[in-house]
Amino acid sequence: MQQLYQAADRIEAQLLCDLLDRHGVEARVFGDYLSGAAGELPADIYPSIWVIEDRDLPRAQTLLKGWLDDKRARAEARSWVCHGCGELVDGSFDLCWRCGKEH
Ligand SMILES: [Zn+2]
Repeated sequence: MQQLYQAADRIEAQLLCDLLDRHGVEARVFGDYLSGAAGELPADIYPSIWVIEDRDLPRAQTLLKGWLDDKRARAEARSWVCHGCGELVDGSFDLCWRCGKEH
């Protein structure tokens, strides 16, 4: 069993685990139960994804890379840079929150 990735939160961990599962890679999320006790534990405990079969690891890493690339692309597509003030604005806004200029 090999650790593949440390997720930012339980939702990310579960999404990744589901993706691996769909591609026939058996994976488990460890540590997610700790988030239930948030506040009592150090903030640096994140759920991690482990690949059960060592031989699946290279494939899991490829899937992980594709998944992270997609995620980054989506995040970048959502945000835009304001021509008025250069602020990075979240894609859910049509107007710059800082100077009010239209996208
Ligand atoms: Zn602006």
